[in-house]
Amino acid sequence: MDKKFAQRFWAKVDRKANDECWLWKGAVQSSGYGTFWKDGKNRLVHRISYGLSRKCGPAKTKVVRHKCNTRLCVNPSHLLIGTHKDNFNDAVACGKSGAASPTINRDQVIMVRWLATLGWTRQALANACGVSKRCIAGVVRRETWKEVK
Ligand SMILES: [Zn+2]
Repeated sequence: MDKKFAQRFWAKVDRKANDECWLWKGAVQSSGYGTFWKDGKNRLVHRISYGLSRKCGPAKTKVVRHKCNTRLCVNPSHLLIGTHKDNFNDAVACGKSGAASPTINRDQVIMVRWLATLGWTRQALANACGVSKRCIAGVVRRETWKEVK
C-alpha cells in the first residue's frame, strides 16, 4: 500500500496512546464498522489498518477481530486475525448475536453496570452472570450493549 494512501487513511483516525482505542472518524456501515473507499470499493477500515501495520493484508478468508470489542477501533495493536467462527463465538458469548440465545440479557446489563459502580470486581460479575470477564468488561465500559442506558 502506498504512502499517500496511508496518509489519507490515518487522517481519518483519532490516534491515541497505544493501549487506547483509535476511533475511525470516516464513513460507517449500518453494521457499525467503518469503511474507506479504496480501489473502487468500500473496504472495512479495521482490515485496512491491519494490513497497513503488518505490510500485508489479511487473507480474504480470515476475519480481523477486535480485542477491545469496539467496532470503530482501528488501533493495530487491538486487532488480531481470526476465523469467522471465533468472531461468532465472541458475539454469542456477549449475547450480541441473533442466532443463539443470549447469555447476558438487558436486565443483567443494567445490574452489572450498577454493581460495578459499587465496587464488584469483573470476575465476581462474570461468575454471577455465567459469562466471560471480557464480556463483563465490554458491558461495563459500554463498548457493548450501548443501547441500554
Ligand atoms: Zn480498540
